[in-house]
Order: sequence, then C-alpha cells, then structure tokens
Amino acid sequence: MPQDPAFPSVYEYALARRCTHCRAEPGLPCNAPRKHGDIASRNRIRAQVGQPPMEINPLALLHIVRVNAGSRHQDRDIAAAPWPEDREPGRRYDTLG
Ligand SMILES: [Zn+2]
Repeated sequence: MPQDPAFPSVYEYALARRCTHCRAEPGLPCNAPRKHGDIASRNRIRAQVGQPPMEINPLALLHIVRVNAGSRHQDRDIAAAPWPEDREPGRRYDTLG
C-alpha cells in the first residue's frame, strides 16, 4: 500500500510508542541485538558471494508488538479522519502530535 501523505508511516507510529517488549522509550530504536545480528550475519554471507548488503526495512528492527500497536494506532487515526476527498491537501490527520 503506498504511503498516504495525510498520515505518518507505520514506522513513525511504532517509534512514537514505548516498546512493551524491550522497554525502549518513545523515539528510540528497539534493543534487538538478535535482529541486528541476524542482518549482519546475512550481509557477511552476501559479501562473501559478492552481493551488496540487503536493503533493510526499518520495521524489521522493531519488536512486532510495537509495530502492531503502531499499526492499530494508524488504523484508528485513518478511521477517525474525513474521507480522502474531504481532506485538506497537505494537512496531516494523525494524533501523534
Ligand atoms: Zn522493542
């Protein structure tokens, strides 16, 4: 689904919350050493076979409970906003503040 400019991305919603899994404060990345280690290990293998590092979806570095909560928050904001045809161009309708 393309990014709707009236709302922040799910990543921004997720990052704006405290992580209930690792207790990362709002705005700070998750403390997820295994996720980082997994990506580093895959990139070492890719480097050995001459491939560039993989593109990282920033959501993959957050704990899933935080991503799901952020996604639900975005869904609530989208449901509470006017229909797309009734929105003011360039205005954001999120409640992240
Ligand atoms: Zn976390």
